[in-house]
Amino acid sequence: MQCDKCQNVAVYSRKYSGENLCSECFSNSILRKTAKTISKYKMIKNGDLVCVGVSGGKDSLVLLDTLKKMSQTHNFRIIAVTIDEGIPGYRDEALNIVKEFCSKLDVEFKIYSYKELFDVTLTESLELRENEKTSSCSICGTFRRRALDHAARQIGANVIATGHNLDDILQTFLINTLSGDTNRIGWMNPDNENVELRKIKPLSEIYESEIVFYAFTNNLPFQSEPCPHMNEGIRTEIREFLNMLEDNRSGIKNSMYHSILKISDIMKNNDEKEKRNCDICGNECTGKICSVCTMITNLKKERSNSNIT
Ligand SMILES: [Zn+2]
Ligand SMILES: [Zn+2]
Repeated sequence: MQCDKCQNVAVYSRKYSGENLCSECFSNSILRKTAKTISKYKMIKNGDLVCVGVSGGKDSLVLLDTLKKMSQTHNFRIIAVTIDEGIPGYRDEALNIVKEFCSKLDVEFKIYSYKELFDVTLTESLELRENEKTSSCSICGTFRRRALDHAARQIGANVIATGHNLDDILQTFLINTLSGDTNRIGWMNPDNENVELRKIKPLSEIYESEIVFYAFTNNLPFQSEPCPHMNEGIRTEIREFLNMLEDNRSGIKNSMYHSILKISDIMKNNDEKEKRNCDICGNECTGKICSVCTMITNLKKERSNSNIT
């Protein structure tokens, strides 16, 4: 089968559009789509320094690869940042992958660790948590977001880019909906042009399956082993459910994504919770003390209790 756009052999059939593409035309379509998402939401502006969160998984390496290519023709710079949670074995492999990939791309690379930022590693905090109800992913996610904020400020970046794809967005929307957390739906809106530290998701309009194909066809060296603490629970079930729908009804994920944009836009303007600053760290939050400081305070309390007994 021939590529729809050139004379090469097609290697990818895009079911929702009916296109058949060769490796090069497929990769170009991903680059074009990502560039379109970035310009639609004014995610990156002239002269920006973008802190790219790179875990070593396929999404973050595809993000780094596409942003590096764009930075060569546009006026912005990127720095890769990896957050070391302190998961022995697992994170070490990822750090090596990221380090090598960054030197191949000629991108500056920095590592920040939980231990140095919060004085606890993920493994320690999992032992210290009061009960199993707080999942490892929610502890880790809270810490990782704060660690990336810190890293961005340290390196003087004004934008943080993460590799979330379209499937991640759909799953998060359904999780928030099923748990009744409607304020979070408002926070999902990609339009945050006017904040001091912009959080952007340039791959948010690309299917996970296409990110996987991009990584393979461009020989990106990603870590495929899942995190040993992964207990995603409902996210895995929703992911499989959405994949089943997409298999039978191509393009259904795209239409759901467009609904989410509209809903989150309305919810954003509806969110009346007053924003203030955390008494401990000064970061913006909705209560007196932010979720990260609450978590750290609780973990440290547990630690001093267990030291006494
Ligand atoms: Zn082609
Ligand atoms: Zn705080």
